[in-house]
Amino acid sequence: ARSLRLILGDQLNPRHSWFQQVSDEHVYVMLEMRQETDYVLHHAQKIIAIFAAMRAFARSLQQAGHRIHYQTIQEADPAITLPKLLDQLLQHYQCTELRYQEPDEYRLDQQLAAYQPASGIRKYCVSSEHFFTMRQEVAVQFKGKSRWLMEHFYRAMRVRHQILMEQGQPAGGQWNYDADNRAAWSGLPWEPADQRPVHDHSQLWQDIQQAGVASFGEPQAAQFRWPLDRTEALQQLQVFVSTALPHFGSYQDAMSHRAWRLFHSLLSFALNTKMLHPAEVVQAVEQEWRAARIPLHTAEGFIRQILGWREYVRGVYWARMPDYVEQNHFNHQQPLPAWFWNGQTRMHCVASAIGQSLEHAYAHHIQRLMVIGNFALLAGLQPQALHQWYLGIYIDAFEWVELPNTLGMSQYADGGFLATKPYVSTATYIDKMGDYCKGCYYDKKQKTGERACPFNALYWDFFARHAEQLSRNPRIGMVYPQWRKMSPEIQAAYQQQAQRIRDNLDSL
Ligand code: FAD
Ligand code: SF4
Repeated sequence: ARSLRLILGDQLNPRHSWFQQVSDEHVYVMLEMRQETDYVLHHAQKIIAIFAAMRAFARSLQQAGHRIHYQTIQEADPAITLPKLLDQLLQHYQCTELRYQEPDEYRLDQQLAAYQPASGIRKYCVSSEHFFTMRQEVAVQFKGKSRWLMEHFYRAMRVRHQILMEQGQPAGGQWNYDADNRAAWSGLPWEPADQRPVHDHSQLWQDIQQAGVASFGEPQAAQFRWPLDRTEALQQLQVFVSTALPHFGSYQDAMSHRAWRLFHSLLSFALNTKMLHPAEVVQAVEQEWRAARIPLHTAEGFIRQILGWREYVRGVYWARMPDYVEQNHFNHQQPLPAWFWNGQTRMHCVASAIGQSLEHAYAHHIQRLMVIGNFALLAGLQPQALHQWYLGIYIDAFEWVELPNTLGMSQYADGGFLATKPYVSTATYIDKMGDYCKGCYYDKKQKTGERACPFNALYWDFFARHAEQLSRNPRIGMVYPQWRKMSPEIQAAYQQQAQRIRDNLDSL
């Protein structure tokens, strides 16, 4: 049968079994589409990165002899939907079947599942051959349980895939070395130099703008540094393993305004577009530990993110969509302050984390969770608006991984299904893990008054406002006993301060 094979923008895996044989009977279709640029307002670098990587992928397939139909954004009809376009292409190439790989986003999955090609044309959905688990596997493991603890899933994955295991036991005797992964960073060892290759995408950026695609953030079109194909992604993995990985574990939770990526891998874009397979990344890191080049807590801390969190959040996504995206446990309704779009706030930690997100389309995990997300939850920002912001701004943001992280882990909007407690803190935690407070307009110690750090009063007010939902949670520990020990005057002063902050978010 003559087959039309659709390749989505995050399915750039040259080792997929589709490409093992070259045949004139297979027409590979790749489409730059307004439907995909416009479902949320995106960071300029994210649009450039995906289109540039798609183009590179199409070229490499063509060079290998495959038949490709590629539509650029200038050629794209802004109004046409994917099903309509598929109708046209199936007819044009006189295909008798359509094949596509499992989409990772619910939106596209639904659209393609509902699509009915003209009569006589068969439709097949095949595996993307990327993940360790199948979509429903997490749900099957936790069937009947009210809480789905990541740690349980992660241990089962370690055993099943025999990763960091020795004679049936976890290496070193413990499953989890989180406690060793919490050092603050003093400035040494240096953040490794950015060795990613530079690309000039000025022309592509011009085309994107001319096509009328809206965006925000720094395009850095002439100085573009995200990996665009598997070769570059493998180089980046190699450089990470030899330069940053040795320090990853200790400084996993550290933050600094002097170092935008610290010892993180910057591999999420390459992973999420499937240039790299998660197993090869995990194996490369495990090998470093076996060769005694990195400590166990570093290997374990890194592997947990990929073998544990990444697969787990995907399982939550497929089990809980489409309702998941609507959840708003605390009924938070504040719109995002304007500085989410320009970083102009006097809160140094937030300005730094949002500022680097606008500049690099990247912030590392603790900045996303304990600075931006922390503030958003304390201030009562509307979780769906926040979700759209996260989905737009980060180079690695695809809904299957972004949504459970934002709505679940960071905003507790699913009522604690994914996170065991809300991830919030006062200035104390931010000061302990980073160096932002020293250069800040606000005073980390003060709780009330014009110069008081906004996190402080908001923190107490958050727990006071949500006592009904949270006071019985054992993971929250000392918060409520401490709150109840405060005098009514102090409690009222904190709550008034918090109210003033929430009424004036734009001018913080
Ligand atoms: P490293 O710190 O080097 O970690 C290595 C890899 O582990 C990452 O590349 C990623 O694939 C995986 N990983 C780490 N943490 C997580 C996690 N919590 N969930 C899933 N995978 C993880 N990650 C995304 O890939 N896309 C997103 O849209 C995204 N949105 C997030 C939103 C919020 C509010 C939060 C708190 C986290 C989000 N994360 C997201 C998870 C994490 O922050 C990023 O994966 C990480 O910062 C990517 O940078 P890195 O490759 O340098 O990661
Ligand atoms: Fe952030 Fe508060 Fe510290 Fe300023 S004082 S950097 S706002 S935590």
